[in-house]
Amino acid sequence: MMNAKQDKSEKRPVVFLDRDGTLNIEAGYIKELENLNLIDGAAEAVKRLNMLGIKAILVTNQTGAARDYYPEAHILALNERLEKLLAEQGAFLDAVYYCPHLPAPDAKIEKYARECDCRKPAVGMVEQAYREHDNLDRALSFVVGDKATDVELAKNCGARGVLVETGYGERVQKGDYQWPVEPDFQARSISEAVDWIISVVNENIQETSKKLD
Ligand SMILES: [Mg+2]
Ligand SMILES: [Zn+2]
Repeated sequence: MMNAKQDKSEKRPVVFLDRDGTLNIEAGYIKELENLNLIDGAAEAVKRLNMLGIKAILVTNQTGAARDYYPEAHILALNERLEKLLAEQGAFLDAVYYCPHLPAPDAKIEKYARECDCRKPAVGMVEQAYREHDNLDRALSFVVGDKATDVELAKNCGARGVLVETGYGERVQKGDYQWPVEPDFQARSISEAVDWIISVVNENIQETSKKLD
């Protein structure tokens, strides 16, 4: 019998990853590319997902262009730098999505000033990923981020939510940033988040193979 894990048509677990404060060190609006730097262990954590065939997809709100701090091309350049830093350690993202929008009056640039369906905690970026990749397993989906809005995204798209304590995470957990949330798991960092995700995936694979026996 074919091993389910080796069947190419098999759906893959998926982790929707936040960017700032989760993969790279929170540094406000990053105007200089070199100020985007990875959190310790982030590349190694993403690489472990890659090795197991767990899809790693970036979903990030980026309002710097809407606020007129820099052009949208700079958002792309920051995401490219992130991917380059990951690649230097043998890790990659399966896809990258960003929302450049911001509701008025905070948005200074009109083309970005709107209520959209992609700004987290709305599910637009996640749903786009499901449309564009037919091998993602919703039943084994995760969102990892440092804000309450990341945990809410998880609830809104039926994923398990992981709050990391890096970035704003510790302040969210203490109740002095955004609002309190109850993630499915709270992790000290992306490394611990990935440990937990892999354990959940393994448990589910074991249960599935028991049913097949
Ligand atoms: Mg963040
Ligand atoms: Zn948007």
